Amino acid sequence: MVEKRLHAGHPMGAVVHRADCTVIQRDVNPIGVGDARQALTGDGKFFHACELCCPEAHLGIPE
Ligand SMILES: [Zn+2]
Repeated sequence: MVEKRLHAGHPMGAVVHRADCTVIQRDVNPIGVGDARQALTGDGKFFHACELCCPEAHLGIPE
């Protein structure tokens, strides 16, 4: 499972986390694996993978 964190007013947009990420400090909206993969492989200007929990590796996305 992957979640995304929305930064209010943050220019980088949303950060995608793994569900067990320990650095999530704000409210998150749970999203499915398919949605997370699509978010990270689609328009990279809004969604970003968390650098600590590396959701892209969890999803099998080569970087
Ligand atoms: Zn994370």
